[in-house]
Amino acid sequence: MALIVQKYGGTSVGSPERIKNVVRRVAKYKALGHQLIVVVSAMSGETNRLIGLAKEMQAQPDPRELDMVVSTGEQVTVGLVSMGLIQEGLKAKSYTGAQVKIITDSAFTKARILSIDEQNIRADLANGYVVVVAGFQGVDKEGNITTLGRGGSDTTGVAIAAALHADECQIYTDVDGVYTTDPRMVPEARRLKTITFEEMLEMASLGSKVLQIRAVEFAGKYRVKLRVLSSFAEEGDGTLITFEEDDKMEQAIISGIAFNRDEAKITVRGVPDKPGIAYQILGPVSEANVDVDMIIQNVGVDGSTDFSFTVHRNEFDKAIDILKNKVQNHIGAQNVVGDNKTAKVSVVGVGMRSHVGIASKMFRTLAEEGINIQMISTSEIKISVVIDEKYLELAVRVLHKAFDLDLESA
Ligand code: ASP
Ligand code: MG
Repeated sequence: MALIVQKYGGTSVGSPERIKNVVRRVAKYKALGHQLIVVVSAMSGETNRLIGLAKEMQAQPDPRELDMVVSTGEQVTVGLVSMGLIQEGLKAKSYTGAQVKIITDSAFTKARILSIDEQNIRADLANGYVVVVAGFQGVDKEGNITTLGRGGSDTTGVAIAAALHADECQIYTDVDGVYTTDPRMVPEARRLKTITFEEMLEMASLGSKVLQIRAVEFAGKYRVKLRVLSSFAEEGDGTLITFEEDDKMEQAIISGIAFNRDEAKITVRGVPDKPGIAYQILGPVSEANVDVDMIIQNVGVDGSTDFSFTVHRNEFDKAIDILKNKVQNHIGAQNVVGDNKTAKVSVVGVGMRSHVGIASKMFRTLAEEGINIQMISTSEIKISVVIDEKYLELAVRVLHKAFDLDLESA
């Protein structure tokens, strides 16, 4: 007998029919003798609808009241799932975040979980109940309802699995696992049987939005065994997120090719090469809440250098404006130029730690296609390049093939 947390996303509980599917799966696991905690999202589209309603009342909804409104989506689905289970002859009980006592801080709309009171859940499980918990929500110490940020039900699932030392946390979604790259772009992409937490974080932060990043971090920190599965497929093992040291045998050198379309590149030219310049350039940018990603500074030759970085495409104009008006003259730079039609492609794999030649293979592959690399950055398990957006698909395809990730080479 195992203790299993199953988290179902919005599409998996998007209609009474689909909820009945969830009920069937839960019943199947229960029949095998397992203890089950089910965490659910709101029906797909519901959270957006609720935010829309709030915005009709207030253009910038009051954060406390917004959480009051958006948390209702999950309250509906937990009740419906429980009813379905009871109808199947199972014992089931639903809980809101506040009823469990998922205690969070008071950062409305992006709260962090501080603690989970496991007493009620444990007692119910011991009495044979399936416990159904609302994702995405909690309560602060003063009793205010809070929410955990968009996609936060993943985090609820993982946090509950961590608090109760569950044997496995299964995340059911509309894809059947984590892929080597986006199958919509590369039909040869294949599902990974396993991926390490670190790789998953790199893939997630690069735009493979299978799991909320915070949930992956949480699972890594508390060593929760996490599996991503399809709620629409009857069978299949999905993708297991593993720890590198437990997974030496299975690991490929490269696990996937991640990409991000929404990049923009900015270069400040003719920057005096002296202490404090990087801070004077990026300080005002970060004060304006613009996130900076890749940063590159050339070696200065004649006392001046170029300084380049990337930002999200939506923030390109804002960043250029700040640099032209607040920074350029102030530091005595020549000019500020930019390109908002760039994309980032990354090769991700823990195998890089122990294998040489990955970078040169990547660069050679791109060179053979005549794709110009504009910027390069590396971490221990990732090499990223910024290229012209129009070559993105080509780059992802050829890299996917070059690193033996295509289906037939599996
Ligand atoms: N319902 C919330 C959202 O749409 C939480 C979730 O789905 O995980 O963001
Ligand atoms: Mg979701």
